[in-house]
Amino acid sequence: MSAAAPGIGLAEVRALEERYLMRTYKRGAVDFVRGEGPLLWDADGKEYLDFLTGISVCSLGHCHPAVVAAVREQSARLMHVSNLFYTEPMARLAQRLSQSSLGGRVFFSNSGTEANECAIKVARKHAHGRGIAAPEIVSFEGDFHGRSYGALAATPSLARNESLGPMLPGFHAVPRNDAAALRAAVGANTAAVLIEPIQGEAGIRPISDEALLAARQACDEVGALLILDEIQTGIGRTGSLWAYEQTPVRPDVLTSAKALGNGVPIGACVTGPAAADVLGPGDHGSTFAGGPVATSAALAVLDVVDDPLLLRSVRELGAELRDGLAALDGVAEVRGRGLMVGIGLDEGTDAAVVGADLLERGLIVNVPAPSTLRLLPPLLIDSSHLERAVGLIGESLLGLAAT
Ligand SMILES: *Cc1c(COP(=O)(O)O)cnc(C)c1O
Repeated sequence: MSAAAPGIGLAEVRALEERYLMRTYKRGAVDFVRGEGPLLWDADGKEYLDFLTGISVCSLGHCHPAVVAAVREQSARLMHVSNLFYTEPMARLAQRLSQSSLGGRVFFSNSGTEANECAIKVARKHAHGRGIAAPEIVSFEGDFHGRSYGALAATPSLARNESLGPMLPGFHAVPRNDAAALRAAVGANTAAVLIEPIQGEAGIRPISDEALLAARQACDEVGALLILDEIQTGIGRTGSLWAYEQTPVRPDVLTSAKALGNGVPIGACVTGPAAADVLGPGDHGSTFAGGPVATSAALAVLDVVDDPLLLRSVRELGAELRDGLAALDGVAEVRGRGLMVGIGLDEGTDAAVVGADLLERGLIVNVPAPSTLRLLPPLLIDSSHLERAVGLIGESLLGLAAT
């Protein structure tokens, strides 16, 4: 099926964008109109295999029937009442997130950035409770935590943009995976270490067990919180519900978003016992957050993802994908865990050219860095999709090497 939905077409959409949208995004030249499972169709009816899923958002594939049904049912019954009243889907989702991870309390948000914003508030207030007047937060170079001012300050590469300054004070970065530098940076004023267990935007760069253990130990020594940003790594992406489950550490706080709603905006800051009761009345809030439609969608997502068979399949498919990619000419390195995969291309290959060529060939990938491709395919795929993707990447690299 390739029925294109009626629309005005790419040229006119582009013209509207040129006139009316702030120039913050660089977009691929495609106007998508429909999706189903791992496939997308553009306005001309051309089919694409989606190995990006809206940056690990539609992890169950596009328009997953269980999520569509949950959104349909809930939106026809009740869409919004605000956080001034109780609603059942929010309470049930909080229970589910807590019981599946750290066991403490949950704060809902509408995005990943906002989930981290809550975590930063928790960390700072927790630190004030320990008598720290000017709390500090330590991250790794390459970390991405979002673009509001708190999350931005914890995102070293973007926080260097002085045209957006001044930044929030008290944020420090140490080189990625440098356990000794991390230990040295954590001190009496440290409120938290805030890191991604696998850096996503940096091109899928796993944090070593040694560095994670150093972070855990350093936090324990001074009484600081370890916050893991699982916005990209969570919800089954790496082959466990949470990425930390495959590491030697357990955080005090974790943040989730992206795939939590499979396309419906929702984020969550989930605490363990040490951080569960830090925020109190008046400390935080959000009008839309935790609304019935978004939380119903997330409950439907967890019904599908929180399944040992599915998670095992993610680990197996991930290994198969990485093996297939590593055997290709032009691939220097394959990184990642589960279906979160980064490809380091041979020196001299322009990944942007490869990404554009793949889009032309009907495969959607992402180019997070000059020599890196990032693959975040749906979790519900089979070997035939992997073979098709690996085949297309191989053809593209061969074709470009020949020119
Ligand atoms: C995407 C992302 C964010 C920001 O989430 P938004 O929903 O875009 O606000 C934060 N941290 C990580 C690790 C991410 O991948």
